[in-house]
Amino acid sequence: MPKGVYKRTEYHKKIMSDSHLGNIPWNKNKKGLQIAWNKNLTRKDPRIAKYAEKQKNIPKSEKTKNKISVTLKRKFKEGIIKHPMKGEKHKVTSKQLMKEKALKQINNNTRKGLFKKNRIVPFEIRKKTSMTKQGIIEKEWKGFINDTRILERKNKKYKLWRIAIFERDNYTCQFCGLRGVYLEAHHVKSWKNFSKLRYVVSNGVTLCKECHNLTKKGRGK
Ligand SMILES: [Zn+2]
Repeated sequence: MPKGVYKRTEYHKKIMSDSHLGNIPWNKNKKGLQIAWNKNLTRKDPRIAKYAEKQKNIPKSEKTKNKISVTLKRKFKEGIIKHPMKGEKHKVTSKQLMKEKALKQINNNTRKGLFKKNRIVPFEIRKKTSMTKQGIIEKEWKGFINDTRILERKNKKYKLWRIAIFERDNYTCQFCGLRGVYLEAHHVKSWKNFSKLRYVVSNGVTLCKECHNLTKKGRGK
């Protein structure tokens, strides 16, 4: 549109008049200073959200994007705006999405060789991991164990389960009633077939070694 006075023809005036026909002027019957309708409203308001959505779809130049970025960063630093997720919890669906995205990133990085597949782990770290798995301190560590059957019975959870059963049964064999002998914790429902009951105290019973061996009959030792 040319600057300065723009002369409208009669036709122009008519179509403009027609287009406004029936509209109520925004300031009709209103007196004094008017407050903007969108003052203090956030994107939680559907009208604002609609406008924001529209704005999102308008392509912006790099310069504009940069300007927005700088302003947001400054406002964030000054504490005018807070992080949108502050004090909020992620939805389950968005958590899933985040997980997928992260996995994709890891896969990509592995392909690019950013993560070495056969990375050499330092001995000290391997030793520490081994100690945690076996549930022991450094003094007790004798070497690496790879057998999962042994590891599962060496971990802290198992040790605590065993002690809880001995305490409950007062360190007495529940079959022959002997005390002060070598005791073992027996799984009533077997370790092999009831993996969920492995560390449940009510699934254990204190037995002496001889009585325990009786339960193993037919299964070998
Ligand atoms: Zn016994």
